[in-house]
Amino acid sequence: MTRSILQSLKVIFKTDVRVFVYPSSATGAWEAALTNTLSPGDRVLLFEHGFFAFKWARVAERLGLTVDLVPGDWRVGLDAGALRERLAADPDHLIKAVLVVHNETSTGVTTRIPPLRGAMDEIGHPALLMVDAVSSLAATDLQHDGWGIDVTVSGSQKALMLPPGLSFTAVSEKALQASTNAALPRSYWDWGDMVRFNDNGFFPYTPATNLLYGLREAAAMLEEEGLERAFARHARHAEATRRAVDAWGLENVALNANEYSNAATSVFVPDGSDADHLRRIILDRFDMSLGKGLGQLEGRVFRIGHLGDLNDLTLAGTLAGVEMGLRAAGVPHRAGGAQLACEFLSDIPLENDG
Ligand code: PLP
Repeated sequence: MTRSILQSLKVIFKTDVRVFVYPSSATGAWEAALTNTLSPGDRVLLFEHGFFAFKWARVAERLGLTVDLVPGDWRVGLDAGALRERLAADPDHLIKAVLVVHNETSTGVTTRIPPLRGAMDEIGHPALLMVDAVSSLAATDLQHDGWGIDVTVSGSQKALMLPPGLSFTAVSEKALQASTNAALPRSYWDWGDMVRFNDNGFFPYTPATNLLYGLREAAAMLEEEGLERAFARHARHAEATRRAVDAWGLENVALNANEYSNAATSVFVPDGSDADHLRRIILDRFDMSLGKGLGQLEGRVFRIGHLGDLNDLTLAGTLAGVEMGLRAAGVPHRAGGAQLACEFLSDIPLENDG
């Protein structure tokens, strides 16, 4: 079972190299990515384009790495020009890794990865490219090998449709090679142990067996649906959600249409309204839990998740719940967004649905 699960994950990450599974949340995979490839004091570069980029930077700092955290606008993705500029200013190649969050779950902004790899290649900078795909994997295209990513981390509880408790780490040959010299201390997270045991179909310690059974089923569901089709399903539900948000007269946090997230949409409440009050009313009255505004967006934003095991009717229920909550909480808005989204879903089926 282990071998077949690891093979399925390679298909989902679009890699021919290796994927590791830890019985941990995704934060553990963040730590594994760093401790396996870097040495104390090594410099890593991040751009603060959301809450999770900031949190990954904190993990790196605590591990004794030198962190260049470039302040940024949370409403847009990481720009390849900004990355090129930073790396060009590092002729001695002191920066050992660039850490990027693919889909910022806090903002609903998806950063395009290929232009970042392009910028690194263009100036021949050898830093490792590490990508957080926690809320993008299986919701939006991600090509670990094709995009030249060295370490991609993800978790079970988003588009993989599982409970929390498993993390996934896809690695490149270059990252595996780096792990043979990396001097940060590690034991539980050591890739070397994983490689030795996984090759025999085992793990170096007790695996989260129940979750692995779930993972086997989730991978089978994705295979049956087809990965590209799962991306299209997510894109369509994201589009329906944005149509509702626009119709309510509310503002999407994501500014650029080519960076809209397939996985989640973050929405500003109007000035003078409290997003957490709205969320509380929706939870109390309709038993639906919306994501809160994180970090600098606290109280100003609520988040609609539309990833994983979701269909037209679950989305319609979600958007109806939001609209009922907006009304019940007295948040200024225009009525009819949920209806409009339903019309979009009725009129425009997922391609090939007939
Ligand atoms: N990165 C992103 C983009 C996330 O959305 C999350 C959690 O929501 C994490 C990292 C942290 O993952 P975990 O809570 O599984 O440790």
